[in-house]
Amino acid sequence: MDYKGSRLDEILKYNAQFVDEKAYEAYITTKNPEKKLVILSCMDTRLTELLPKAMNIKNGDAKIIKNAGATVMHPFGSIIRSIIVAIYEFEAKDVIVVGHHCCGMSNLDSDVLVEKMKQRGIEENIISTLYHAGIDVKKWLHGFESVEEAIKESVESIKNHPLIPKDIRIHGVIMDPYTGKLDVIVNGDH
Ligand SMILES: [Zn+2]
Repeated sequence: MDYKGSRLDEILKYNAQFVDEKAYEAYITTKNPEKKLVILSCMDTRLTELLPKAMNIKNGDAKIIKNAGATVMHPFGSIIRSIIVAIYEFEAKDVIVVGHHCCGMSNLDSDVLVEKMKQRGIEENIISTLYHAGIDVKKWLHGFESVEEAIKESVESIKNHPLIPKDIRIHGVIMDPYTGKLDVIVNGDH
């Protein structure tokens, strides 16, 4: 829905009331995840509330990391960095990659996306300068063909990472973004 006023103002107004009414009291917890759990999931808006409800995750239960597609893009990028901090600093024992059906990153057409950039004022020469500097923007933005395969790949890259200890259980599941139903892709317990 389009919003005419300032979204930030709207949020700040609500926030003042939230704090005033002590609505936060229901959410007080600690920074160590109660269930010793890390969840890597997608930023899809359908999962915002559905995922924790469908997995019985309450405030304080898990570290939740999100990006577009629940993918580990780089072995030394921010996703692995966050997982490592969760393991060593916050005593996480299980990592669950939660992909989902109908993900916006499956079959994402990066050609179309780059065209949209150009329409929004990004000059063609920026794209080509980056390309010559070794950054293929289209490749970088490219999603995946199969969500199941992408989940398996993310699980593998976490599992085989040289800085992730072998006693950590790495699982992969796929969620129905409508019902919240989970299907197991990789069971790290076995
Ligand atoms: Zn998604």
